[in-house]
Amino acid sequence: SVARVYKNACEKRPQEYWDYEQGVTIEWGKISNYEIVNKIGRGKYSEVFSGKSVINNQPCVVKVLKPVKMKKIYRELKILTNLTGGPNVVGLLDIVQDPGSKIPALIFEEIKNVDFRTLYPLLKLSDMQYYFTQLLIALDYCHSMGIMHRDVKPQNVMIDPAERKLRLIDWGLAEFYHPGVDYNVRVASRYHKGPELLVNLNQYDYSLDLWSVGCMLAAIVFKKEPFFKGSTNADQLVKIAAVLGTKQLMTYLAKYGLKLPSEYDNIMKDFTKKPWTHFISSETKMAVPEIVDLIDNLLRYDHQERLTAKEAMDHKFFKTNYD
Ligand code: ATP
Repeated sequence: SVARVYKNACEKRPQEYWDYEQGVTIEWGKISNYEIVNKIGRGKYSEVFSGKSVINNQPCVVKVLKPVKMKKIYRELKILTNLTGGPNVVGLLDIVQDPGSKIPALIFEEIKNVDFRTLYPLLKLSDMQYYFTQLLIALDYCHSMGIMHRDVKPQNVMIDPAERKLRLIDWGLAEFYHPGVDYNVRVASRYHKGPELLVNLNQYDYSLDLWSVGCMLAAIVFKKEPFFKGSTNADQLVKIAAVLGTKQLMTYLAKYGLKLPSEYDNIMKDFTKKPWTHFISSETKMAVPEIVDLIDNLLRYDHQERLTAKEAMDHKFFKTNYD
């Protein structure tokens, strides 16, 4: 199957735009222009530091990549240089290279992020409208540029509430979309993996990112973080089926000519679809009908049925006045 939107976003651009396999041309900056201040994060693929430019004393973030396959490094660099400057995409300030190891370090604008576990419980419906619109703007932009993020989750959405600034970070798993290409399903983090990844449907597309947005929304609205909490990848699909139904999962698989992989033989059960009202209580004050309808239109097994980023922005939830 192919994407419903932006399916030729790469093909209509020159090959240098999307082809990173032969390496990418980089204008290297000077590592001596930056100072490390302290470590702020350690990911699977990098070590991240806060730093500052010795040229203008501006704060920045330094992401030192770990020595993984050069192809993956080229991909992240190519995607970031293509997208930087776009709306709500983390700003890439410079690319420098460690003279010893030759490993690249990416220099980014620093966002004064408030951890989502602190921030999300404080959000009102009007804040939800604002920040999710900002996230959808970033996603519509990268999709229009032929790029799927593939790792949308709270940890990769930096929010500075004082400035009401949102930036989508961590383009390390992002990939160019080409219609008809088989993609690796080992992307995204478990709780935000779409059903397509869990049933080995390789021809997925931008709509994967909209599933992850649905997971983020549902977690906040229904006060259940994360909303689908699988203990393994296989259990992740079981947790999804417990909400969306097992019969509905089988219908999805049949549409794409797939069978439930054998690893589910002993763990999948016959769940009936739960209505969204099942998750509403006196604690879930944000669960207004419009936002529940938005979640319902994002958390669909069938990736072709999910709202696109643009369609989601046009949803009535974003047009309703709450305060
Ligand atoms: P992971 O393996 O966890 O996905 P990663 O190695 O791909 O991580 P990033 O996700 O890019 O690295 O960065 C790791 C962490 O560093 C982020 O979760 C965030 O807390 C922090 N961070 C990264 N970039 C910025 C930034 N521009 N401003 C503020 N904090 C940032």
